[in-house]
Amino acid sequence: MYYGVIKKNDIANGPGVRINLFVSGCTHRCEECFNADTWDFNYGSEYTEKQTKEILDALAPDYIAGMTFLGGEPMEPANRGTVLEIAKQIKTLYPYKTIWIYSGYLAEELLARAGLWSSDKVPPCEEVPRNRVLPDYSPANDAENLAELLKLTDVLVDGEYMKEKKNLRLKFRGSENQRIIDMKETIKQGNIVLADYKDRT
Ligand code: SF4
Repeated sequence: MYYGVIKKNDIANGPGVRINLFVSGCTHRCEECFNADTWDFNYGSEYTEKQTKEILDALAPDYIAGMTFLGGEPMEPANRGTVLEIAKQIKTLYPYKTIWIYSGYLAEELLARAGLWSSDKVPPCEEVPRNRVLPDYSPANDAENLAELLKLTDVLVDGEYMKEKKNLRLKFRGSENQRIIDMKETIKQGNIVLADYKDRT
């Protein structure tokens, strides 16, 4: 996996002060994407264990609330194995710090692909405004790894950025179709459960 930047002390992508990893590679190609450079899977630098150590060290202070993965697309099949390895180490060292992931994929698609939900729950393409659906490419153990990653995720901000639905008053998201999802409760209850973050008025 490649990555663009590791941002420390960010307050825009999730609650509290957070560490952000902008991974490289995204196939959604949303119009007016805020970070189109990162569509390229080879953008930036190669991610190695050195960066994981940097992230784990940056997460250590008590005032750091957690980790946010964004990009690019952390849930691209080519990226999620590495994201899982980082998430596992974070939760081992800091079980009470939260993990947020921004993904252009819908939660239902990811949960179905992971085998945690029936594919009947995935909304039909024509009912959901989006550019594309999850590709068929699946590396070995992908479903298993994806299930593990989704279970380690506290909050998933899902859905592609849609310029027609852009709203600057939204908190932690750019367009109104995107949802801030409490993944622990969603997996437990078998329904999408939104996390309670009030938008600006
Ligand atoms: S999913 Fe995110 S990174 Fe990918 S094109 Fe859309 S806005 Fe850009």
